Order: sequence, then C-alpha cells, then structure tokens
Amino acid sequence: MIPQDTVNRILDAAQIVDVVGDFVTLKKKGADYKACCPFHNEKTPSFYVSPSKGIYKCFGCGKSGTAVGFVMEHESMTFTEALKYLAKKYNIEVVEKEESAEEIANRQRHESLILVSEFAGKFFQDALQTTDGQVIAYQYFRSRGLTDETIQKYGLGWSPVSRKALSEAARAAGYKEEFLIDAGLSLKMDDGRLIDRFYDRVMFPIHSHLGRVIAFGGRTLAKPVPGKPYAKYKNSPETEIYVKSNSLYGIFFAKTEMSRKDNCILVEGYLDVLQMHQLGLKNVVASSGTSLTVGQIRLIRKFTNNVTIIYDGDSAGINAALKGVGLFLKEGMNVKVVLLPDGQDPDDFARKHTLTEVQDYIHQHEQDFIGFKTDVLLNEAGDDPLKRTRLINDIADTIALIPDAIARAVYIKTTASKFEIDEDLLVERISSVRMGMIEEEQKQKKLESRKPVKSSDEQAPAPEYFDYGMEYPDEMPPIDDIPMVPLGSDPIVSGPIIINAPEFAPCEHELLKFILEHGCTELMFDRDSKYYVEGETINVAEFIDATLAEDEHDFENLSYRKVYEEYFRMYDEGLSQQQIQTRLLNSQDQEIMEVAKELLIEKHSLTVANYEKSLTATSTLLIQFVPKALMIYQVKKLDKMISNLMGGLNSTPDLDAQVETLTKITDLTRTRTMLNKELGRV
Ligand SMILES: [Zn+2]
Repeated sequence: MIPQDTVNRILDAAQIVDVVGDFVTLKKKGADYKACCPFHNEKTPSFYVSPSKGIYKCFGCGKSGTAVGFVMEHESMTFTEALKYLAKKYNIEVVEKEESAEEIANRQRHESLILVSEFAGKFFQDALQTTDGQVIAYQYFRSRGLTDETIQKYGLGWSPVSRKALSEAARAAGYKEEFLIDAGLSLKMDDGRLIDRFYDRVMFPIHSHLGRVIAFGGRTLAKPVPGKPYAKYKNSPETEIYVKSNSLYGIFFAKTEMSRKDNCILVEGYLDVLQMHQLGLKNVVASSGTSLTVGQIRLIRKFTNNVTIIYDGDSAGINAALKGVGLFLKEGMNVKVVLLPDGQDPDDFARKHTLTEVQDYIHQHEQDFIGFKTDVLLNEAGDDPLKRTRLINDIADTIALIPDAIARAVYIKTTASKFEIDEDLLVERISSVRMGMIEEEQKQKKLESRKPVKSSDEQAPAPEYFDYGMEYPDEMPPIDDIPMVPLGSDPIVSGPIIINAPEFAPCEHELLKFILEHGCTELMFDRDSKYYVEGETINVAEFIDATLAEDEHDFENLSYRKVYEEYFRMYDEGLSQQQIQTRLLNSQDQEIMEVAKELLIEKHSLTVANYEKSLTATSTLLIQFVPKALMIYQVKKLDKMISNLMGGLNSTPDLDAQVETLTKITDLTRTRTMLNKELGRV
C-alpha cells in the first residue's frame, strides 16, 4: 500500500516521453513523438506520445493511457508495481503504508495458496523424473509428439499412484493442511487422513496470466473398468486463487504474442494448445472444455480484439461453433471460424503438418462468423421458404448482438445480398431486437446503479457520443441535429460508466470535456459580449460551474457527475489542470478513470494537430462554444421541466394550483424561447 501523497509525487514526476522512451525509440514529430507500436506489429508508426497531455495512444491497436498505464501494459504489472517501478526511476522514496491486520491476512492467505500450488507443480514435475513417471507419463507425452522443451516450459508432470504422495511431501516441507485443502490439492477423509486429489495422472498445471500456478488438470492413462466411476480428465475445483470463468489455459505463454499479432487462436484442449505452440503458433489458448464465459472473453480482450476459433470439422464441431460465438460478438470482438478437415482436432492437425501448412490452412479457411453461419444454415434450409425466413431472422438476431453500428451495417449489406432480400427487412428486425436488448440492459443498469459500483479491470469501449468538441465546426449544428442519444451506438454503456439519463448524455459529455481539457483556461470575452465584466476574468471551469449553479442544475448522468465533482474537489485544493488530468486518468476508481480516458484520450485528442495551434485560436473557440454548449444544455433541461409541469397540470383539479403551474410554464417557455433565439433559431 503506497500512501496517496507518494502516489501523487510519482504521478507528477513521471514524464511520459521519458518513461516510454526506456522501451521504445521515439521520434519527435511536431509537439508529439511517434514510434512503431510496442503492443502490435507494424511497419509504419501509429503510436503517438504527447508530452503536453502526458499520454500515449496507438491509432493502430487503440491502446492508450498514461505513463503508469504504459508501464502496467508493457511490463504486465499491477498499478502498485508500476508505481514502485517509476518511484525507483525517479528516486522517490516509497514508505509503504501499513496494511490492516485483515489486509495482511488476506494477502498472506492468497500468497500461501499460490505457494502451495507452485510446490505441487514442482512436485509433479519431479515425479515425472521417477521410474514410474518416465515409463508412464513421460512416454505418454512423447507419444503425443511433445518435446522436452514444451514439457519443461508448460511444467507438465505426473502425480504418483500412491494416494498421499503430494500431501505427505507438502506437510513434510512445512505447508499447512488448511492451504493444501483450500487450494484443491488434498482432501480430508472422515478419519482425519489427508489424501491427494490427483493420483496416477499426467498433470497439466494451469497458470494465471501472470504466470503463477493456480490449478491443475489431470488426465488418467488407465483404461475404464466396467462398473467403476471413470473420469478421463479431472480438474482442480474452483478456489480462491482459481476462478474458472476467468481463466484460460495457456494465457501466460500466449499473451505477448496475442498482443503482437493482434489475434488470439482459441482451441479446446490442453494438448491442442501445446501442439500449436510447439509448432510455432504461440498466440493460442484453450477454454478447457467448458463453455466460454464473459470473464474469459474479457481476459482475451486485454490483449486483442480478434479471435480465431478452430473447431473440429465434424458436425459436433460445427454445432459448437454455431452455439458459442454469440457471446464474443456481444463483447464487440471480431470472430473468425476455421473448420479443420473432418475428424481432426488441432492437436492431430498440428502434428501432421508444418507451420506453413497450418498457417496457410487457417488463412485459406477462416471465415467471419456471420458468413460462416449463413453458409451453414443456408445449406440446410435449401429452397424451403419457411426455413429460409427462420434462418434470416436467426442471422439478423446474431447481427443484432454486435455493438458497433458500422460493423452491423457491413453485415447487413453482405447478408442482404446473400439472401437477395431488401436491407430494410434486416434493419427493421435488428432494430427491434436491439431495442429489446437496450431496455433490458437499462433495467439492469438501473438496478446496478443502486448498488455501489464494483470496480472491474475491464476496459469499456467508449460510447460514440456526438462530439464537436475537438473539431470545432464553424457553425454549431441546429439544436434538433443534436441527437437525443449517442450517435452510432446505443445508450447502453458497458463497463463501469453509468449513463442513466441518455437524453442529457451528449450535452453533459461535452461540458465535462470542456472542463477536463480547458478548465483553467481564461475565457476572454469581448467587451461587447454580455458575459464581459469589467476588470474580472473567469475560466472555463468556473464559468460552467457558476452557470449551472445559478440554475440549480446538476449533471443527470451519475458517472459524469462523479467526475465533475471530483474535478472541482481537486480544483478547490489548488491543483493545476495538468495535475488534475493526471490524477483523474490514474484514478483507482475505475468509473472515474474510464470517463477521464473517454474524454481526454479516446477521442481525437492527439489527431487534431491544429487543435493546439495557438492559444488565441483556442481561446476564440472557447468563448464561442462554451456558452453555446451551456445554452443547449439549459434548453434540454427546460424541455424536461416544462414537460414535467405539463404532466402535473392534468393531475390536479385545484384551479389555483393550475394557474400557478401555468405561470411557471409560461416563464420557462419564455426563457427557452430566448435561449433558442440566442442560439440562432426563432
Ligand atoms: Zn498499437
């Protein structure tokens, strides 16, 4: 635990160019620096570092963040580890805050469970060297074509036939019974004896994405005996260190290559992974037979958005392919499917072919999922009109899962032409399915927003709000052109950002962006402006805050309001704009960090070079657009207030109350008309 003031000192000291420059050769380009991206393979540089904003962004793979974020990403470190690394670099002494007794106990317990798992891993590896291990297990691995190097790298092993070998060895080495049981390695019998969960099996340790051993899969080589229970594979149970739905076999050995190739190959079993990796396809992981979970997909998405799933080409494989993929699409991933020749799994296929042959096969046979599904089903339906109708609806429902509007549009086009039908038919169906999904998710969001927001380490795709901020068009669009909901996407926001009032989201997004980017910039109003006050100056943040306070308007969207309040809390502490930005972007509150990232990084920030052309230009734009953005927001607020009052009008029979309400409505309408006039509309 690093105390907050030390964290702040580290954040203030870390210079992005300096930090990134330790890993990447940067070339100066204008105000920014450019390089080939360290996170994906490229020949022309699309990786930018902005010293003025203290951030990096890759326009190729989309990775972005601050200096701390860069170290975390590049070195696979946690937030605290990255801070310590930077503290060392900048000679900042870190005196760690004392943990509470409970924190210490939890951390130690977690570490103890991992340590005992790693002990077991070593024990199984050593057992592989015994006579039995050699004859039974090692022979098996070799017969499957695995090399010594692969066996070593993945820590494959053997659990001896005796039912207590591991438990006894671990106890003798000083490991507590409690941890052996809780790590899923030992079982306690009624008579108090401790026995091993795994015995007489070849062992596949399962590593976390940080490379620690957290669980095992064991395969028996014995033949089934009639009348006796038989499990070919046995896996560790769910434990505190092994959450199945968040783990993938092989992730630790695949992650670097997954980022570099910007692709993940997904197979089913341990041997599929080992064989493909050994052949040279290192970006490969397995779901280990269970059906995929959102947690696993998000683990993949940490490293890439593209997945190639390889299935056995038989009908079971095809059915599996048709079933499992919806979840990927829903998470916004690009999915390709490869069917292997009938009856072969990736293990067989990799053993029988060279690397080039396998690569060529994948390349020639990979099909985007929607196309794959269409072809398979079209083949089944033939010319039967009823079946075809059902099929078209089925495909439309699948397309509806895709969050990205542009991707959906592309699929609609290709699907319509495949079926020779009108695009509108698909669009209609897809819209109605999506409306249903949105309503459902909004309901969920509402329920969740009542609970405290749990932080998660997932990256939320930034919603594509209407955004005129950075490009500053000459004219503001007329009010009606500002969409009520974010353009291009729907008012569902995934990840920790809560958009509970989508009709206000674009405006609040815009105002918050002005504050976060230009909060401390002075608004230099002309003498003839109605905002001009002789001898007084006001900056963007205060101007917006004062205007909203006067009308008693709070931001309606909870995440935006939270960041707004956090901004002014730090502003009142006297922090500079740059410091506030850094703190927000590095906030340990996931919600705050995501909003800051969305507003400060995800959008054009670095692309629009002319944006920081000169202070005068920015200032001229600000005095024009900040008041306009506020007026548009006020109009929206007035719309809502007026319609609420109208609603109340019919519900009260009291004449006096009605007159009072009508007067209010008239006042508000007058204000609204005035604002509209000022916005250039009558
Ligand atoms: Zn990149």
